Parts: sequence; structure tokens; C-alpha cells
Amino acid sequence: MTLQLPAFETHVVDNQPPPFGHRNLWRDDRALQEAISHEGGGAFVATLSHYGELAGGDLYRAGFDANRQRPLLRTHDAQGHRIDTVDFHPAYHQLMSTAKTHGVGGLSWHAQQAGAHVARAALSYLHHQAEAGTSCPLTMTHAAVPVLRQEPALAEWASKAAMPFYDPRDLPIGDKAGITLGMGMTEKQGGSDVRANTTTATPLAAPGEYSLVGHKWFFSAPMSDGWLVLAQAPGGLTCLLMPRRLPCGKRNAFHLMRLKDKLGDWSNASSEVEFCGAWARRVGEEGRGVATIIEMVMLTRLDCMLGAAAEMRMALAQALHHARHRRSFGKCLVEHALMANVLSDMAIESEAATALSMRVARAVDAAPQDPREAAFARIATAIGKFWVCKRAPAFVNEAQECLGGAGYVEESMLPRLYRQAPLNSIWEGSGNVQCLDVLRALAREPHARAALLDELQQGSGRAEVYDHALAAVSPALSGEAIAEVDARNLVARLAVLLQAATLLRVGSPLATTFVQSRLGGAGHVYGVLDAATPFTDILARALPAD
Ligand SMILES: Cc1cc2nc3c(=O)[nH]c(=O)nc-3n(C[C@H](O)[C@H](O)[C@H](O)COP(=O)(O)OP(=O)(O)OC[C@H]3O[C@@H](n4cnc5c(N)ncnc54)[C@H](O)[C@@H]3O)c2cc1C
Repeated sequence: MTLQLPAFETHVVDNQPPPFGHRNLWRDDRALQEAISHEGGGAFVATLSHYGELAGGDLYRAGFDANRQRPLLRTHDAQGHRIDTVDFHPAYHQLMSTAKTHGVGGLSWHAQQAGAHVARAALSYLHHQAEAGTSCPLTMTHAAVPVLRQEPALAEWASKAAMPFYDPRDLPIGDKAGITLGMGMTEKQGGSDVRANTTTATPLAAPGEYSLVGHKWFFSAPMSDGWLVLAQAPGGLTCLLMPRRLPCGKRNAFHLMRLKDKLGDWSNASSEVEFCGAWARRVGEEGRGVATIIEMVMLTRLDCMLGAAAEMRMALAQALHHARHRRSFGKCLVEHALMANVLSDMAIESEAATALSMRVARAVDAAPQDPREAAFARIATAIGKFWVCKRAPAFVNEAQECLGGAGYVEESMLPRLYRQAPLNSIWEGSGNVQCLDVLRALAREPHARAALLDELQQGSGRAEVYDHALAAVSPALSGEAIAEVDARNLVARLAVLLQAATLLRVGSPLATTFVQSRLGGAGHVYGVLDAATPFTDILARALPAD
């Protein structure tokens, strides 16, 4: 008699969306393509399309692996010698290597062409969608270059940081074709207020050389080849370059104490460090540390804005993909009127974030030749950093909700995006710091104020609701003193106006809906657009159907 085994199949798997899959993140993104064309990056389309293919394929997959295994600090070797190294998943190095060789960390400096900053910003935006943790060492490496260029003795550092080569080996930079860089400003007793730094920089016999004693409380990318640090020299707070290896090949005198156990940003290591007589070279003048390093910070702040915009874009793409394939109550989620409203509202928010970020990238690109653009970059970076970063966490949560329970499960990527989303508003100057910086620029930098006013006026005369909102902030734009307590109120309004002006100026098909919903008094959640909104058109534009 033959035994009848039970069938293993208990049910048919049905109504599950196909995997997000291999996509070209550039080709999918009309808002990005149009922003690049409007903001002067058109010469780099082939480069961006190629990177979009990588970011939506190999890098997208590598991002899951790089975040599955968190970096491991190894302080000593088997014989008890200090080694202070960090081990990463191989996927982390794959992400870094691909990004570096394709210019994510340096295209702006080695492509001698107008629009290179805009293209680098778009590369960074594409990369960040696949994997956000590696954006930290990439952005710091990119942003350190103009600071290092100020010091002729550090020309090799500046040029190797900009080079499209990744070499993770722990060697003196003379033995490497490409390097990565970090920054050390934050100490235990104060991060926003770096004047409270206690780390000392004692001059050595050779001019420009110092010995560092003290600590940094947050010190990301601890496997970098060098860091720009702030320390108290005899003349006051000073910027210095501290290499990992001395030119002779010996380890520099610092210890990695532990790695931070972070909410997110898991592929990237952030450490605590102590300097015990570490050798460093001064960058800029003694006592001018903040003024020297601010050039780096301005660029990392732009990347915070880009990163937040990228997180929104990826969250939107995931939500829309899901809603097009998942059915409930007899139709696809996206066909339900209320879901179409939520997704359309998110698409508008995402496009505005992308458009503003790329507009600021254009200002950074033009700044060396154009004082008006330099002044605009100075104030718009702070406004955009505050607002776009502030919008990302709630946006990602809304996208999670579109996926239902699947959005709370790691395989969907949404939990990783959700953990990452708050970070950009915290580091590189938290929200209040950005808002106070805008007040300072409005009060003391007439060129920045004039550039902002000029930019906002370019949106005038196209929508009544815009003109009213602009008139309401005109006292601040004409130099009237604004109380500190009102800073967020003002900067939030300036940010939305700036996004609206950008969309109006380039004739975005979403401009009218953005203006009406954001400046015309709609609600505080996504999904409150007017019933007459062209939802189908907005969603078709947001992501091609697959
Ligand atoms: C994952 C991670 C990695 C990091 N990596 C690095 C790194 O590599 N290098 C580095 O130097 N730093 C790094 N940081 C530190 C980061 O830049 C600081 O945490 C940040 O600048 C805030 O400083 P703080 O933590 O000392 O907070 P505080 O300065 O104590 O500020 C706390 C809050 O108070 C607000 N605040 C401060 N002053 C005022 C004021 N005058 N009015 C109103 N509000 C105010 C701030 O906006 C903030 O919201 C990292 C942080 C994180 C989370």
C-alpha cells in the first residue's frame, strides 16, 4: 500500500507586488531630469543615466547587505597592539568604490565644466537612494576639497580626495591614488556651539604643525585617510588636518574608543575618538577655524538637503510601485480616490524637494564666478537644509503606510529609510541652528537678503496666492528685525515660497497644485489635495508604470 503524503502547499501566494526590482533611477525620475536640464547639468545626462542604472540595480541590492551587518571596531590585534580599524561588509566597499569611481565624491572638482556641481549633486541623490550610509564619507570627502585647496602644503590631499579612485587600505596617502576624508568638530560639552571645544592644538617646532590632545564625541567615517578637526590653538579655535597615518607610515596618535550604537545609518561607522598627541597640520589661520571649515560645512549641508530629497524620492517610488500592484476591495490601491490623493500629494512634495535642491546646487556651481549666485547659495542652503530635512521623516512614514504591514518589514527598505530620515536634520547644524543662521544672514548680509528677494520675485505675477504669501514675508526681506522666537515660522514660509518660486519659474506642471495646496491653507497631512487635482497625470509623471 502506498502512503499518501500531505501536500506541502497550503495556499496560493496572490496579490503581492513584484519586487521593486532592477530600475534605472534616473530614467524613472522626470522631476530629476527636468531639474538637471533647468539647472545647467544637461551635459552630464549620459553619466547620470549610467549611474541611475547602477543605483537601481547592483547598488540597490548591495545596500541591503551593507546594512545587514553593522561595522565592527577592532581596537587591538591578536598580539595586543592597537590597530583602531573598522571592518565593513564587502558590500560597503562595493558601494564606496562604485560611487568614488563614478564621481559621487569628486566630479565637481575634476570635471572642468560648468554644471559639474549640479551633476555631482544628482549623482549623490541617485546614490543616496540606493544606500544612504555611504553618503556620509562621500559627502565629507567631496566637501573637504575646497578647504584643503586653501593650503598649498596640502595640495596632494586636495587632489587625491577629488580623484575617482577608492582605496580602503590603511596606508600613508603617498601610497594611494585616491583617499577619503572626514571631519571632527563635535565634542561632549557642545556640538552646535563649537566655541566650547576643549581639544588643544599645541604648536610644534616646524611651522604649521601641531600636536592634538583631547577628544571628539562624534567622529564619523573613522577609517578615513584624514580629518579636518577643530581645536584650540594659542590664537583660538583653529582648523587642522589630522592624517590617519604619518608620512613615515606610522599610525598617528589617536584611539577610536567605541562606535556609536545609532538609530540608523547602519552601514556607516560613527565613532568616539581621543587624541593623545596626534600630529596635525594647520589649515587657514590660527583663530579662524570656523571661518575656514565653514566652506566644507556649506557643502555638506547641501548634501543633507539632497539626501533628504533622495529619501523622499525612494520612499515615493516604493509606495507608488506597491500601490499599482496591490489590490484591495476590488481594485488596485492606486485606483482608490483617497490613496491617489495621498500619493499625489507626496509626489508634489518630493518634486519640490528635488527642484529646490538642484537649484541650490546650481548656485554652488556658479558661485565662484557670480556673486549673486554665491549670495543666494549662502542663504538658500540654510533655508533648504532646514525645511527639506524636516519634511523627510513624516514623508517616509506616509510611504510606509501606503505599503501597509509590508512597509514595517525590513525587506521593503522602508524601515531603513525611516531610520535614516531624521539624521539629516540633526547633523551639520540642527534645525534651530539653520533658522538662526538665516536670521543672521537676513540681518547682516544684505547681498544674501537681496539675492533671496530677487529669487522669490521671479515667482511673482503667476499665482495670486503666491503673491499674497510673498507680501506677508516682505518685512523680513526688507531688513526688518525678526525676533529669534519667530525664526522657524519665518524660515518655513521662506522655504515653501522658494520651492514654489522654483517650480513656477521652470513651468513645472505641478506648480499650480503645489502653490494652492502649500500656500493656500491646505491641511497638515498628506492626502488633502483638492478633489479637482489631476491625480492620474501627477502619478503618471511620478513613476513610469512597469
Ligand atoms: C550619526 C551621527 C554622526 C555624526 N558625525 C559627526 C562627525 O563626523 N563629525 C562631527 O563633528 N559631528 C558629527 N555628528 C554630530 C552632529 O553634528 C551634532 O550632533 C549636531 O551638530 C548637534 O550638536 P549636539 O549633539 O552637541 O547638540 P547641541 O548642540 O546640544 O544641540 C541640541 C539641540 O539644541 C539646539 N540648539 C543649540 N543651540 C541653540 C540655540 N542657540 N537656540 C535654539 N536651539 C539651539 C540644536 O539645534 C539642537 O536641536 C554626528 C551626529 C550623528 C547623530
